[in-house]
Amino acid sequence: DHRDLHSFPTRRSSDLFKLILVGDGGVGKTTFVKRHMTGEFEKKYVATLGVEVHPLKFSTNLGEIVFNVWDTAGQEKFGGLRDGYYIQGMCAIIMFDVTSRITYRSVPNWHRDLTRVCENIPIVLCGNKVDIKDRKVKAKTITFHRKKNLQYFELSAKANYNFEKPFLWLAKKLSGDNNLMFVEAPAMRPPEAMIDMNDMNRYEQELTEAASCPLPEDDDDI
Ligand code: GDP
Ligand code: MG
Repeated sequence: DHRDLHSFPTRRSSDLFKLILVGDGGVGKTTFVKRHMTGEFEKKYVATLGVEVHPLKFSTNLGEIVFNVWDTAGQEKFGGLRDGYYIQGMCAIIMFDVTSRITYRSVPNWHRDLTRVCENIPIVLCGNKVDIKDRKVKAKTITFHRKKNLQYFELSAKANYNFEKPFLWLAKKLSGDNNLMFVEAPAMRPPEAMIDMNDMNRYEQELTEAASCPLPEDDDDI
């Protein structure tokens, strides 16, 4: 074990958090969670709920942290998820697909279902598939996270782009320590898509600009 247990006596294997992963069918949730190799290798199937739980481990400067990521077997395509999916969730990722407007329009519904059971947990909104050139959901239309105090990241699950960002943000929130860092990259599947860093930089800039625009008035809408 590479960790120096004596330096961090308060952090143990109990740093394990249930992470609820939601979003419309097809946005890339399963692709995303399977990038992490040990999580994929050690996943467990919860037959009563039809859910796969992937333990994603990250090495931090404060010790190991494990996110037990809950991924459905596709039930979200047929409507909402059962309460058992949400119960005792300690953090969450709501995902949409930047090439599909309808998946962004569903975000408030996922947020409502989630926060009905998990009242005050850290949540990250993720726009996936930014490797695809024909993007439909543009930065300035992505405002939901600002209204609800969520963090937002853009991802490409296929290209491993920003994979660790949501986990790092959640780990900081859950530990209450903003100085938390990842000290080692987890073993990942090799990328299956390429990203154009010029596009990524432009998207980042568009997000920064959008952050200083006033929010639309209509409440709870997107
Ligand atoms: P889920 O229903 O949310 O679990 O979505 P899946 O993980 O099953 O992915 C749905 C489809 O989107 C599959 O064909 C994936 O290969 C594709 N996909 C997932 N993530 C990405 C991505 O980042 N980029 C691209 N281009 N395709 C993706
Ligand atoms: Mg899936």
